[in-house]
Amino acid sequence: MGGSELDVLVIGAGVVGLTTAICLAESGLSVGIRTAAPPGESTSAAAGAIWGPVLAGPAGRTREWARTSLYVLRELENDPATGIRSLTGREVSRYPADPPDWTDLLDDMRLCGTSELPPGFVSGWRYTAPLVNMPVYLEYLQARFDRAGGRIDVNPVTSLAEVTGGRHGAGPQGEARGTGVHGGTGGTGEIPPVVVNCSGVAARELVPDPAVAPVRGQVVVITNPGIEEFYIDHTPAPLDVVCMFPHGDTVVLGGTVAPDDWDTAPRPEVAERILRDCAAVDPRVLGATVLGHRVGLRPTRPEVRLEAEPLAGGRVLWHNYGHGGGGVSLAWGCALEITAAVRPEEERVG
Ligand SMILES: Cc1cc2nc3c(=O)[nH]c(=O)nc-3n(C[C@H](O)[C@H](O)[C@H](O)COP(=O)(O)OP(=O)(O)OC[C@H]3O[C@@H](n4cnc5c(N)ncnc54)[C@H](O)[C@@H]3O)c2cc1C
Repeated sequence: MGGSELDVLVIGAGVVGLTTAICLAESGLSVGIRTAAPPGESTSAAAGAIWGPVLAGPAGRTREWARTSLYVLRELENDPATGIRSLTGREVSRYPADPPDWTDLLDDMRLCGTSELPPGFVSGWRYTAPLVNMPVYLEYLQARFDRAGGRIDVNPVTSLAEVTGGRHGAGPQGEARGTGVHGGTGGTGEIPPVVVNCSGVAARELVPDPAVAPVRGQVVVITNPGIEEFYIDHTPAPLDVVCMFPHGDTVVLGGTVAPDDWDTAPRPEVAERILRDCAAVDPRVLGATVLGHRVGLRPTRPEVRLEAEPLAGGRVLWHNYGHGGGGVSLAWGCALEITAAVRPEEERVG
């Protein structure tokens, strides 16, 4: 991808990069993606995934990004090609626990009665939220980006300087003036006027940003033995969680929450533990066929970094990474915020 004809180059083709690229391309800009690996090999492909901005901050901005994304995901449910559908289920805990604040964005959120809790559990809540079949959803996002005229180039960016044409500040810079394609002088040579860094956990090295750290998640995919509700064991545990996300013919079983673990190879002993724990919740899991194993590195950071870094010549480097365990639930809100800054409504044609 040469880049000279591009208005925007997006780095990364996970759910955050693809969603950002779609919003910018559909606003009328010429957008390309450069990615180290195809979307199906990203952390995003490993996610469960249910709407819920977990392991992500700051609370205020995250809530608004989650609210926007909830609205968009619900709209997308109407198209079966998206792999999204609303599903009801429970989060439960062996200890007293309160639902997170963001559950009040869901219409039917309510506390569970004692009879709705598994033996040994003392708290829980029920709600309906969008459940996303990630491999299907990522295919949908790629097709939508393609329809908007976008191109994906599997070709890792070796440094941010390579695509921005020079130095950039590594740390958060605050809001920039002239953050849009038309806010500066435009690109020079092969360098596009706007670059958006959606590199997930790789931002730790690429930016570099030591505040980014992986939280490894491993899941097992099985044939669906008849599970119709999602289930999340909310009991605090050091490294393990127990969860089940049914997607029609398949179920994603989880999982792990292992900080600072960079290993992307599935571990057989972890898969066995996941199957055992899920079978203890629903014995039908024992009769299912294992279809596959997935591992992803949640890109955690104390706060999502969504901000513009002004560069020489009026160019802009946007950062959009650090979505932790909630990237699927935040991507549309973040992407639309960037698009509104890069491409204000009054500049759009048609
Ligand atoms: C097991 C598991 C379950 C999860 N469940 C949920 C859930 O239920 N709900 C939810 O909202 N979230 C969930 N998450 C979190 C969610 O998956 C992440 O927040 C999200 O995938 C982050 O998306 P991303 O696009 O930022 O990162 P990624 O998906 O990691 O994408 C990063 C992209 O950057 C590219 N890249 C990296 N380096 C370079 C480079 N040098 N040059 C070019 N490209 C580069 C990569 O190739 C990749 O395409 C879960 C995660 C895991 C692991």
